[in-house]
Amino acid sequence: MALSDVERGVCDAIGERRDELVALAAELIALDTTARTIGEPARQEAALQELLAGRLRATGAEIDLWEPDAEQLRGKPLVPPGLDFAGRPQLIARRRGSGGGRSLVFNGHIDAVSIEPRERWTSDPFAAEVRDGRLYGRGSCDMKGGIAAMVLAAEVLASSGVELAGDLIVATNTDEESSGAGGTALVERGLRADAGIVTEATGFDVWVACRGSEYGVVRIPGRPGHAEVRQPDWRDGGAVNAIEKATVVIDAMRSLRAEWAARDGLDHPYLSRPALLPTVAAAGEWPVTYPAACDLTVAVMYVPRQADAGGWGADVRREVEEWIARETAADDWLAEHPPTIDWWPNGVMPLEIPSTEPIVGVMSEATADVGRPGALGGLDSWYDGATLTRFAGIPSIGYGPPGFDADGLSLAHMVDEYVPVDGLVACAQGLAVAAMRYCAAT
Ligand SMILES: [Zn+2]
Repeated sequence: MALSDVERGVCDAIGERRDELVALAAELIALDTTARTIGEPARQEAALQELLAGRLRATGAEIDLWEPDAEQLRGKPLVPPGLDFAGRPQLIARRRGSGGGRSLVFNGHIDAVSIEPRERWTSDPFAAEVRDGRLYGRGSCDMKGGIAAMVLAAEVLASSGVELAGDLIVATNTDEESSGAGGTALVERGLRADAGIVTEATGFDVWVACRGSEYGVVRIPGRPGHAEVRQPDWRDGGAVNAIEKATVVIDAMRSLRAEWAARDGLDHPYLSRPALLPTVAAAGEWPVTYPAACDLTVAVMYVPRQADAGGWGADVRREVEEWIARETAADDWLAEHPPTIDWWPNGVMPLEIPSTEPIVGVMSEATADVGRPGALGGLDSWYDGATLTRFAGIPSIGYGPPGFDADGLSLAHMVDEYVPVDGLVACAQGLAVAAMRYCAAT
């Protein structure tokens, strides 16, 4: 396909507003919306959402900007116990279509990860700076750049006088990096559309899948005792070193990872195989005492095929528990004092969108037509598209600017995070063209 004259006009208009796009991304980066741990006060989430709401209101969109009711969301999927939304509003901006067309939502999360280690940054992470055609700053790639691109796309569509038949919605939420609760808040508010595009930095690929994950703490029991004196066998009351016993559990994790790496049926065209690994270890009370227990946090990432009947990770949890129990039973102490696993209450669920969904083809063609062809792909980690797809029935692909450096390393969450400015412009163009085709420009 090739761009129509109207589409070309919109793309040209976006290209002419390149500086404005960079300025908007810089404004978003300057507002501190780094991800929270529960209980921390709001940062500048409200200011950021109000800024976006103001701009989108000017396009003729209806604005819904609200602080979700924590009570109402308690116990909902991805909402951790104790979370509230004071000072952290969510935004749904809807520009109504002329009627009869498919509706589309552009979605992005406004939270960004911590700026630490701050001293390693070349420039202030909150003062966006363009160097060599790259926009540097915390959240530039993940994903304030993508948000700026979607907002500019919506603005140019409106100012160019393009009538869409279906509604075009811009929805921005908090709490993606830490929990996924922001996406749930959008869905609970009633956000619905025929398709969604989450503008994570996909490098113009079209994501149609992501892995689910579960986290838990494996507690390996030991028995305290003086470290410098002879200890009898544990059966005779001797001390047991929980750190040394933890190596048995680590071996079990490694062997399950190897088994998953080889098991038939766990390969996926767009995702890495499932995996598990220890990510935090905590043990020891005193340098001259056998550690009484060792706690290992385990990260478990799984593919859609491993999900339970409800689409969650219960089967994977059980498999990990049974595997660790079986592998550690060969150790005589652990056989009688088995490790226990406390799972975090909120795992995240995997996502799989059929490549036959119309938005997949529309986005793939649109990005090719603006000169940035992409491939179908997936995210080994997780994004809000899973929430919109699974809980609101909005098939929500990922599509956005470049998010990987020349070595294929993710720029997200990195020191000196950046997004190429050319890529931001092309992303806005791809989004605008996709919206015109999906929602049927008239
Ligand atoms: Zn992100």
